[in-house]
This record gives sequence, C-alpha cells and structure tokens, in this order.
Amino acid sequence: MIPGDTDAFVGWGNNNATRAVHRRPRNTKEIAALLEGSSMCIARGLGRAYGDAAQCAGGTVIDCTGLSEILAFDGSSGVVRVEAGCSLDQLSRYSVSRGWFVPVTPGTAFVTIGGAVAADVHGKNHHREGSIAGYIEELCLVTPDGPRIVGPDRDPELFWATCGGMGLTGVITEVALRLMPIATSYLSVDTDRARDLDACMEMLASGDERYRYSVAWIDAGTRGRALGRAVITRGDHARVEALAGTQRSIPLTYNPVQRLSVPFTPPVSMVNALTLPVFNSLWYHRAPKHRTDEIQTMSAFFYPLDMLRDWNRLYGPRGFTQYQMVVPFGQEHVVRYTIERLQEASCPSTLGVLKRFGAGDPAPLSFPMPGWTLALDIPLGSPSLAVALDDCDRHVAGAGGRVYLAKDGRMRPELMREMYPRIDQFLETCHRTDPDGLFVSDLSRRIGLTPTTPTQRKGMKP
Ligand SMILES: Cc1cc2nc3c(=O)[nH]c(=O)nc-3n(C[C@H](O)[C@H](O)[C@H](O)COP(=O)(O)OP(=O)(O)OC[C@H]3O[C@@H](n4cnc5c(N)ncnc54)[C@H](O)[C@@H]3O)c2cc1C
Repeated sequence: MIPGDTDAFVGWGNNNATRAVHRRPRNTKEIAALLEGSSMCIARGLGRAYGDAAQCAGGTVIDCTGLSEILAFDGSSGVVRVEAGCSLDQLSRYSVSRGWFVPVTPGTAFVTIGGAVAADVHGKNHHREGSIAGYIEELCLVTPDGPRIVGPDRDPELFWATCGGMGLTGVITEVALRLMPIATSYLSVDTDRARDLDACMEMLASGDERYRYSVAWIDAGTRGRALGRAVITRGDHARVEALAGTQRSIPLTYNPVQRLSVPFTPPVSMVNALTLPVFNSLWYHRAPKHRTDEIQTMSAFFYPLDMLRDWNRLYGPRGFTQYQMVVPFGQEHVVRYTIERLQEASCPSTLGVLKRFGAGDPAPLSFPMPGWTLALDIPLGSPSLAVALDDCDRHVAGAGGRVYLAKDGRMRPELMREMYPRIDQFLETCHRTDPDGLFVSDLSRRIGLTPTTPTQRKGMKP
C-alpha cells in the first residue's frame, strides 16, 4: 500500500498508464529526503519519452519540473549551469538572444535537461557532433547516499552510466552544459526530394561533410519502386549576411508561440489507414524537388511538431508507439525490411525519420552507434503490430543494431543483451551506488534491467 496520493502516468504515446505516488520536490535537499523515505522510485521530466521510462507502478514518481532555474552562465565559455527540470525551450529563450544554443537538440524543445541527459539524446547533427553527453562538464546526481558531482573526469563510470541510463542511476538535479555559439537564430536550409530509399540514403551519405544538420522525412507507406521516397532537409545556422530586413537587424531572437492545439482526445485515431496515405502523399508532392538556402526559424527547422500542442492526442484513446532503431552501416537492408514488414502487417505509420549517426560515446546504455537510424510513429490497435515489431527487433539485433529505450514501450527483454552488450557494466555501476535497487521504472522492469518484485529486489546482484 502506497502512502500519499497517487496519479496515473503515461508516456508521450498515451498508453499503458500506471499509478504511482506523485512527488514534486523543489531542490536537491528535498530529493535526498524523498529518497530516504522511498522503497522504489524514478525521476520524471516532461514525459516526452514515448513509453514507460518515466513511470514506476506502485512506487514514487519524482517530478523534477519544479527544479527549473538557470543558475549561472559564463558568456565567454558558453557554459550554462541549469537545474535538471529546466526545459530546452526555457533555456533557448534565455541563451539564443545572447548568441548561444544547445549543441544537441531532439525534435522537441519540451524536454527537460535531466530527461535529455538520461536518454543521452541525439539530434540532426549526430553524424558530426555526437549526442548531448559529449557537452556536459559535470552534473549533480542524487543517489541513496546523497548528492554527488560526477563528470567525464570525476567518477567517469557513474557519469557515463547516467548519460543514457534512463534515470536508473539516480536523480539528476543540476547540469553544467557547454553551449554552442551562433551568429543568428535562423537556419539556411536546402531541401531535396528523393524518389526512393536508395536515392535517399545516397543523398544523405554524400552530404555528411557538407551539412551540420541533416534529416530525411520518409513516406513509409509507399510500396514498390517508390518505397522510401523522402524529403531531405539539410542545413546550418545562417550567417548574418544571409538574412534580410528585420531578421538582419535582429538576428538573434527566440520566442516561438504555440498557436494551435488539439484540445481533446478524439474517440478514434485521426491517424489511420485512410488518412495517412493522403497526408503523406500531399506532403511529398508539396515539397520542392530541389531548393537551396531557404531561411527558416529555429522552431520551424528543429521543432516543427511543437507548433501543434498536444498533437499526440490525434492518435485517439489507444495511443501510439514510436519504433526507433539503429543498424550499423552496411545493414541498409534492415531499414528496408522494417518499412516493408510494417506495410505487410498493415500497420501504417506517419512520416518516418531517417538519419545517419556518427561515433557513439562511452555510455553503456546510450542508443547511437555509427549507422542508420529509422523512427516510425505507429498508431496502436492493429492485432498484427506486436508480432511485426518483435520480428523487426530480431532483424535489428541480428544486424548488430538496437532499439531506442526512450521511444520504447513494448520491447521484450530477451534481446536487451544483444542490443546493449555493455549492460553488465551498467548494472555493476548501478549496484555500486544503489545496492538496494531503489531506482526502478516500468521500462526497467519490462526489459529486465531491474527485478520485477520487491522480494526479488532484495539482494539484487547485477
Ligand atoms: C516529438 C518528439 C521528438 C523527439 N525527438 C527526439 C530526437 O530527435 N532525439 C532524441 O534523442 N530523442 C527524441 N525524443 C525523445 C526525448 O528527447 C526523450 O525521451 C527525453 O528523455 C524526454 O525528456 P523528458 O524531460 O520529457 O523526460 P521524461 O520523458 O519525463 O523521462 C525520460 C527518461 O529520463 C529520466 N529522467 C527525467 N528526468 C530526470 C532527472 N532529473 N534525473 C534522472 N533521470 C531523469 C526518466 O526517468 C526517464 O527514464 C523525442 C520525443 C518527442 C515527444
């Protein structure tokens, strides 16, 4: 029996809700006190992980959004010290006008810094600049022993386990992050259409050196010769000289407004086998075949989905999942297989995202590795989806790839070791700082990273 009020928690995919005690501490001290009184807990940011990573059925969810201060900023080095519940949106509103931007950003600004570190997020520049862990000077982590400072040079083992560790090493309360200097808050963007998957991959590969940011939006519903047709957008931060008019006179500004929202969850998914092909086709044909040097705002380039608040509700009461996998270069056929397998199972997906990753980092649970990453949003409800995705998992693991834990809400535990071969190193680090297994999430139980019952947790060994 849990003392205190419980709330239902879900991920961005809006499914598999579970209940937990909801705590909203305001500082590191309160978090340390909370840990003393808990038997099982997990940190939560803005709930943008698609699955069950920030849920803890029967335990305590530590909502970190109450720690959202920007504590210090050094305008000469660009190092900012922020509390972990500060969102990227909040940080950009502060830093962009000063000429600095986060060095790595996911496809939404509504994630917390703590959540971004815990997932070791990647952006459209991973092929050149890696994931967020590479830009952290140090962070404050609260473990059952209390707060401690870790960084690449200070308890590196615990630092790297925390980056990508999905909250299982402790609660991050502060992060010192190196920002990137920018001259303007605009991007100079090239757009190209690719007629099929091969053409798309060829174009992306040939642009690695030229473009800092690059992404392909794939129409995963088209079959036959046009399978994998895509619109590729690539670019870099614009120079002041590339701007005109007001943009040139105020080159650094960041103030996006969410004008539209989905006010309620419709009784059935608006994203389905009827609407998707129409949307995907319109979107493909509306894009220019080849356009260069278009000036776009940061929010249009990095966060197009953020313009529509609560867009995840469009998937109806059953919700949706995102399948994001990476396979090493040379295993391109698995990308094609994944798209075809989901088509064969009649599981339509919205625009997919295909990107190239560069070198990974030393974090044992970090997702990126050199290769191709494909992400597909799929409405839940089709009886054949689970089998199709299990099948895709086997192909991904067999090719030496893996599934992204921050997007996952359904993977089985059997393939975890194959996908994340440094898992024992991770578990040993967790055991050193958290021998009683305090940090547990629905995700960690489902994929076998932590035991499933309190009795099993006692005497847990990696
Ligand atoms: C539209 C959209 C686009 C996205 N695009 C990308 C992308 O391009 N690249 C990418 O890498 N990811 C992407 N993501 C995933 C997202 O970046 C991650 O799931 C991120 O972890 C979400 O942060 P959050 O604050 O919402 O954390 P939550 O979803 O609340 O939690 C996620 C994980 O972080 C842990 N966590 C949260 N706060 C803390 C803390 N203070 N201390 C310790 N652990 C903590 C939680 O325990 C949980 O395991 C996208 C998500 C959405 C919805």
